[in-house]
Amino acid sequence: MIPIATNQDSTLIPITIFNGSKNGKTLGITAGVHGYEYTPILAAQRLIKVIDPQKLQGVVILVQIAGLESFLGRSPYVSPVDKKNLNRSFPGNSNGTNTEKVANFISEQIIAKSNYFLDMHSGDAPEDLISYAAYYSNSKMPESSSTGKEMAIALGFDYIVNFDTDKKDYIKKSEKSLYCTAEAFKRGIPSIDIECGRLGIIEEDKINKVEQSVSNLLHHLHFLPDTKKAVTHSHTMITNRIYLSAKFDGIFYPTKKAGDFVKKGMKLGHITDYFGETIQSIYAPEEGLILMIINTPPINKDEDLVVIGKTE
Ligand SMILES: [Zn+2]
Repeated sequence: MIPIATNQDSTLIPITIFNGSKNGKTLGITAGVHGYEYTPILAAQRLIKVIDPQKLQGVVILVQIAGLESFLGRSPYVSPVDKKNLNRSFPGNSNGTNTEKVANFISEQIIAKSNYFLDMHSGDAPEDLISYAAYYSNSKMPESSSTGKEMAIALGFDYIVNFDTDKKDYIKKSEKSLYCTAEAFKRGIPSIDIECGRLGIIEEDKINKVEQSVSNLLHHLHFLPDTKKAVTHSHTMITNRIYLSAKFDGIFYPTKKAGDFVKKGMKLGHITDYFGETIQSIYAPEEGLILMIINTPPINKDEDLVVIGKTE
């Protein structure tokens, strides 16, 4: 339990360190960067018993719940302490607010010590989401990019999203990384994400999926002996994402679910005002797979309503 304190408040970060009986590399894993994303948090609880240090080569640092205040406070996206989103606060600040100090600790004490990095998320409280793995890439960092891609595939998800950072500012030295995995990738570490689970629901198959995928990764990276024959899992690559956002505050009525394939021009939902009048209808600008769609009524102007993935 790592204590983090400012002059006004304090929190703890529960972390498990698995010291392998054989020397090797270090894998950093974070769960609960968003404290309302329960699937990876519960999978991380199971990993405590699954990862056997006797069989392990190397070190696994597992952050059980990075955003403990957000978890205990049942607060989607942001910490109730300082209203900051931990996954927009990297690399953090050692003299900053509660959330910024947590980000700083993860950057300097976990990411900086890792050879590989995995950040685990799910759809947050209002988000219906299809499960996928993602990897960071940049044409100037071919080695970290290709290792990350292999790691993402090894997890065993049906969909793999490529976060291509060539045109993103947050990977530049002068800009803040904002995202946990972006901070790791910026440091040259092969970096991947899991997105599995949705809407704050506890689903056994999703928790199993995350637990199994981390186990697959440990075998793939030779942290655990490869007892199984290599399984080639078929997957679909998603190279581009289209974000559709709300133009108004109001009430959102989705007409599609995460995982639906949509054609150009299909209706995805509409927003009404507080008197039932439709003020925005949302249509697919291109065909693709719905990765995420808001599935609870409140919607705020400029929030993402739908994310469509372009499959290869
Ligand atoms: Zn998240």
